[in-house]
Amino acid sequence: MPRPSPISPTVDFDRDGVQHGFLRLPYSRDDSAWGSVMIPICVIKNGKGQTALLTGANHGDEYEGPLALYELARTLEPKHVSGTVIIVPAMNYPAFRAGTRTSPIDKGNMNRAFPGRPDGTVTEKIADYFQRELLPRADIVFDFHSGGRTLDFVPFCAAHILPDKDQEAKAFAAVEAFSAPYSVRMLEIDAVGMYDTAAEEMGKVFVTTELGGGGTSRAETVRIARRGILNVLRHAGIVDGVDERTRTCWLDMPGGDCFSFAEEDGMIETMVDLGEPVKKGAVIARIHGTGRTGLAPQDIRSRMDGLLAARHFPGLVKAGDCVAVVAIEVG
Ligand SMILES: [Zn+2]
Repeated sequence: MPRPSPISPTVDFDRDGVQHGFLRLPYSRDDSAWGSVMIPICVIKNGKGQTALLTGANHGDEYEGPLALYELARTLEPKHVSGTVIIVPAMNYPAFRAGTRTSPIDKGNMNRAFPGRPDGTVTEKIADYFQRELLPRADIVFDFHSGGRTLDFVPFCAAHILPDKDQEAKAFAAVEAFSAPYSVRMLEIDAVGMYDTAAEEMGKVFVTTELGGGGTSRAETVRIARRGILNVLRHAGIVDGVDERTRTCWLDMPGGDCFSFAEEDGMIETMVDLGEPVKKGAVIARIHGTGRTGLAPQDIRSRMDGLLAARHFPGLVKAGDCVAVVAIEVG
């Protein structure tokens, strides 16, 4: 038997009404001998029905999710709910407080920490609590992402291509309901340790986003997040009312050819902007060496026709950085 989680919730998941509380994780340290990490959680429940588990800041430097979810927790009234909405607006709370992708306590990347460990690091303990306590309660799992400080994306909602086609169809229907400007069918190349994989392996309907990036948010992408999550909850029948859909453009990211990586350090010059069409063989970015004058830039060429779905954000790149992602328009 695995040991119990050290995390104790201050909310009762079976109680009707609105509760604003914490997941309290004991964390003894220099400035707080018997201290805890207090991860905000909100439970909004009204009778029987499906349960939605909503998370933001799985990576601590992505803001559309937390902006949408703190507001949803403040404004969603139980009378509009049938079932349960569990909101954890800042899943990797230490990373969120530090404004960094990974946790400043243990360098843990939440989306590589699953299934976690009850006797592991702080990040692994949070992952373990989601794995064994929160995910089993959920029917639909929605995890917000954006590009963080080093990437910027066209705003899209996404789900994975899955072996279980019924589960996959439910996830794509929820993506369609979210109604972001773009919707993506994703094939994950490195799925081990991801929250996505943990949820999908339990048979849950799992939906995610990439909404902008650059370590901040924009008015447009926050609006997309707020409208989209209500649409998904309405589509699932958990919140009353009709979803307000707008047209979405479906994209495929079929595999490794979508991604381009820097092979040397330098200063990046993007040759196309997000959402613009690209042709196979076209130069989509150039990396300029800066150690001396007279150096020819390294050209990054697209290996397929499509549109630019993501780009490296900061002006400087290092060898190995993902510099561009091209996706194919499929309707
Ligand atoms: Zn992320």
